[in-house]
Amino acid sequence: MFARAVIFLGPPGAGKGTQAKLVASRFNVPHLSTGDMLRDNVSRGTELGLLAKPVMERGELVSDALVLRMVEERIARPDCRNGFVFDGFPRTVAQAEALDGILAKQGIGAPAVIYFNVAEDVLMRRLTGRRTCKACGEIYNIYDRPPKVDGRCDADGGELVQRADDKPEVIRERLAAYDRQTKTLVDYYRSQGVLHEVDGAASMEAVTASVFGALSKFEARA
Ligand SMILES: [Zn+2]
Repeated sequence: MFARAVIFLGPPGAGKGTQAKLVASRFNVPHLSTGDMLRDNVSRGTELGLLAKPVMERGELVSDALVLRMVEERIARPDCRNGFVFDGFPRTVAQAEALDGILAKQGIGAPAVIYFNVAEDVLMRRLTGRRTCKACGEIYNIYDRPPKVDGRCDADGGELVQRADDKPEVIRERLAAYDRQTKTLVDYYRSQGVLHEVDGAASMEAVTASVFGALSKFEARA
């Protein structure tokens, strides 16, 4: 295993969460998300958690400064000694620059960044096809993972519904917002030579092979 940060970048519906978990489990390193870190700090009542709690309760975004302090504290823990996988962080160039500073300070090299490039029509199909069981919360996809009986959960026969945030107009807005924010971040990592692009529209097995192929190249360079 190589001791470094792996960052997964990609729009919602790109399948990066699944791949990030696979990488974390293969290398036996933590899979980190800032959402989990926030919830953990709040539930443990840490200083950072107490600062974050009222902000989250107001439904506002926690400041970059607070998120970065949390990240710094988290990756300094012993379980991150052999590396770690970030999923959904950083989101902006400012966060990426701050993260580079933290990594340098902790003696960790430049991150390996895996970018999931997926065409918008593919994402739309994946996201608008989602149906959620009202009874158990299981997620289906009318295109890629249809239930045996139309509109009914395989496990309990519960009604399958489309959540409000899976409606096409909401998804289109989410993807556009993601695009605006991420283009500069992708350019930032590309200019540093640490970006590896994978075709997120390929089959899951092909994407996995591509991700591990990219990481072994980074490893050879480290
Ligand atoms: Zn169900």
